[in-house]
Amino acid sequence: MDHKLVIYNTITRKKEEFKPINAPFVGMYVCGPTVYSDVHLGNCRTFVSFDLIYRYLLHLGYKVRYVRNITDAGHLEGDRDEGDDKFSKKARLEQVEPMEIVQKYTIGFHDVMRLFNTLPPNIEPTATGHIAEQIEMVKEILNKGYAYESAGTIYFDVEKYSREYNYTLLTNRNIEELLANTRDLGGQDEKKGRLDFALWIKAKPEHIMRWPSPWGWGFPGWHIECSAMSSKYLGETFDIHGGGMDLAATHHTNEIAQSQACNHTQPARYWMHTNMLTVNGTRMSKSAGNGFLPHELFTGNHPMLSRGYSPMTVRFFMLQAHYRSTLDFSNEALEASEKGFKRLMNAVALIDKLKPSSHSKLDIASIRQRCYDAMNDDFNSPVAIAELFEASRIINSVFDGKAAATQEDIDVLRLLMDEFVYSIFGLKDETGGDNDMSQLMDFIIGLRLEAKAQKDFATSDKIRNGLQEIGIQLKDSKEGTTWSKV
Ligand code: AMP
Ligand code: ZN
Repeated sequence: MDHKLVIYNTITRKKEEFKPINAPFVGMYVCGPTVYSDVHLGNCRTFVSFDLIYRYLLHLGYKVRYVRNITDAGHLEGDRDEGDDKFSKKARLEQVEPMEIVQKYTIGFHDVMRLFNTLPPNIEPTATGHIAEQIEMVKEILNKGYAYESAGTIYFDVEKYSREYNYTLLTNRNIEELLANTRDLGGQDEKKGRLDFALWIKAKPEHIMRWPSPWGWGFPGWHIECSAMSSKYLGETFDIHGGGMDLAATHHTNEIAQSQACNHTQPARYWMHTNMLTVNGTRMSKSAGNGFLPHELFTGNHPMLSRGYSPMTVRFFMLQAHYRSTLDFSNEALEASEKGFKRLMNAVALIDKLKPSSHSKLDIASIRQRCYDAMNDDFNSPVAIAELFEASRIINSVFDGKAAATQEDIDVLRLLMDEFVYSIFGLKDETGGDNDMSQLMDFIIGLRLEAKAQKDFATSDKIRNGLQEIGIQLKDSKEGTTWSKV
């Protein structure tokens, strides 16, 4: 098998052969969620994309240290240096401690990631757990002369930095234009330059999450945590840094500036950015009010949804788009993914029932090679899935006696599906492969059907709602009723 992996690098705007700094070890840092509210499906898309990338690197035999942080401090409303702290604001609203907000939504995030069958990262550092490291890094940037203090807040001096380094390396934007387009400070700000950003922010009297520092009580700016934690766990320069595309222009641009100022090196060799999940062409976000919660999607409890979709249907839906393409969310697209996923899983289940022939005209090995070729071409999962559908078609025709497969063909088909469906795509059979459970569910679904036939809707609703309460979702369609665990 040829495994020359090529990755699109945002910084060079090219696909490049992946050469780890210290193979077989790979260091990968991905910006994690800000845990002040539930993650929406757009956030999940980014984490599922990096799960695919992580799984594929592991599959190729790399020893990956995957670090994904939890932002639990310092992220202000509107991603700016002033305004309310997202955690304190939510804590006031819910009348709890900010760390209760952090705990609640961290647990919620982990639950959702588990439902989507994503592998946990190797290290999941929190901003609040690394205040000392962030203060050290701010001190270092001050020492090197790329930051200044203004009324207890430390700002990064972008103008000074950009005289020596290319500040807009990642986005290739024109710095002069940027300076001109940025909102006029209007004299109310303590910053010198319009693009300057806070490294450490002086706490106002009402600000709850605060720490002592050489500059008084305050809290870290949003960008410094990723620089401090990535260098702590992966070194000053590591292999892959990832996040959603929306982070490139500010958060990642500032991360690069901080690391360059501190260490005179770029933090990462390959910058990978995932594209956005959209709803009717608009980016899904909390502020746009179009943020579907995973739970709403699984239960179908949302005005835009005609019914619920299982976690693996949604994962499959995400994998059917390349991570650098936008993905538009709709009932129709999810329905198509559900059908596709079922078709694939039904074919996988048939492999053990295939009867081998002595001769065949099939070339399963080349399908497998094309799956690897697709994944080696910047993780092109939709192309690999199209090949898996071709394999499914072959399985069905062998099962129906319309084509012949040798024992070797069948073994390669099994290997192909094991590798791609389970290990690389991280899909799983949602019926649990539990025969007793299947029979029991068939029995309950039958009872509900009888109730419906007798127009006893109270009983049929009671069955559906009762199952939902214990985590089993029923789905009605023209073909009948199916169930899944949510
Ligand atoms: P946040 O919790 O806002 O810091 O976001 C966590 C991650 O989700 C970041 O990597 C964002 O880039 C990503 N993200 C936010 N909105 C979307 C979206 N609509 N589609 C895909 N990724 C998103
Ligand atoms: Zn980050």
